[in-house]
Amino acid sequence: MNPTGAVPFGFGPADALIRAFADGSLIVATYDPEDVLRYASAAFKRAFKLDAVEGTMTFADLIMRGARNGIGPIIDCEDTRAFIAETQRRRRGQPGQRFFTTDMVDGSWYWMTETLLDDGWLVLVGSEISPLKENERLLAHAHERALHEARTDALTGLPNRRQVLDYLDTAIVTLPAPETPIAIALFDLDRFKNINDEHGHLAGDAVLCDFASLARNLVRRSDVIGRIGGEEFLLVMPGTTAAEALRVVERMRHAALSRIVLSVAGKEVRYSVSAGITQVSREDRLDETFCRADRALYKAKRLGRNQVSVEL
Ligand code: GH3
Ligand code: MG
Ligand code: MG
Repeated sequence: MNPTGAVPFGFGPADALIRAFADGSLIVATYDPEDVLRYASAAFKRAFKLDAVEGTMTFADLIMRGARNGIGPIIDCEDTRAFIAETQRRRRGQPGQRFFTTDMVDGSWYWMTETLLDDGWLVLVGSEISPLKENERLLAHAHERALHEARTDALTGLPNRRQVLDYLDTAIVTLPAPETPIAIALFDLDRFKNINDEHGHLAGDAVLCDFASLARNLVRRSDVIGRIGGEEFLLVMPGTTAAEALRVVERMRHAALSRIVLSVAGKEVRYSVSAGITQVSREDRLDETFCRADRALYKAKRLGRNQVSVEL
């Protein structure tokens, strides 16, 4: 304002706003109460490719034209008219301000502020946030990967101790009926120390990976096997009795006998496993269940290894 308080034509706040928006990167648009687009900043015209358009255009025209030509916002709905009707309910429902993000067909993202005035005029202001969105995507990806790594055994790629125990906890809690059985099997590779001593640690690692891949192929879809320690694995079998588990585990023990792993020196390394099976009982604590499986495993070892034993 000048000292007299009068606002000379062309220098008022509205004019300053329009001049500021005209060439900047902000998306600015004003719609009148009939929803006719009455003002569009240069960035808005670029986003909607409006430069060559003559005549008036309503919001609905703008979206229809964008949908036909693959420009403007992504319309996550088969029916563009239904999308417009739904959007109009939000745009013109209540006077006031709404904030939202919009993703455009060209991959860019905008943070939008839309103000509906009492008399039906509507002002949209949007700034591009594509770099922020890209950052968000990378962070989400990194988070996913970190979560996966925290739950996966780095050597074998199997679920680690934490993940397989979580699975067991969940399986117990989500039993369809109290009498639904769950069996677990503890595996331990036999005389594994000897393999390391004779063929080297790398050969030992290769044997662990070999057993992991054998197990991955032989366990059923609803079962989960994880590496819970050095050469120890836990198989969780929801909906399975100890007798049924015995068949699955025997198949795995047998399969291990025909595997051949090559050492760095090119020597053939063979291995066997022992396992102890038990059934999870509603009455006992998880550590008691583990003790039973461990006792069964110990018995299999005592009886000469390369065998499976069950303790109920
Ligand atoms: P048993 O039949 O009684 O189970 O005998 P074992 O030799 O398998 O049992 P022991 O507990 O004496 O030895 C286990 C060995 O497993 C000792 C340890 O060095 C080895 N080990 C543990 N983790 C790894 C690993 O990640 N890689 C390799 N190569 N060896 C491992
Ligand atoms: Mg062991
Ligand atoms: Mg062992």
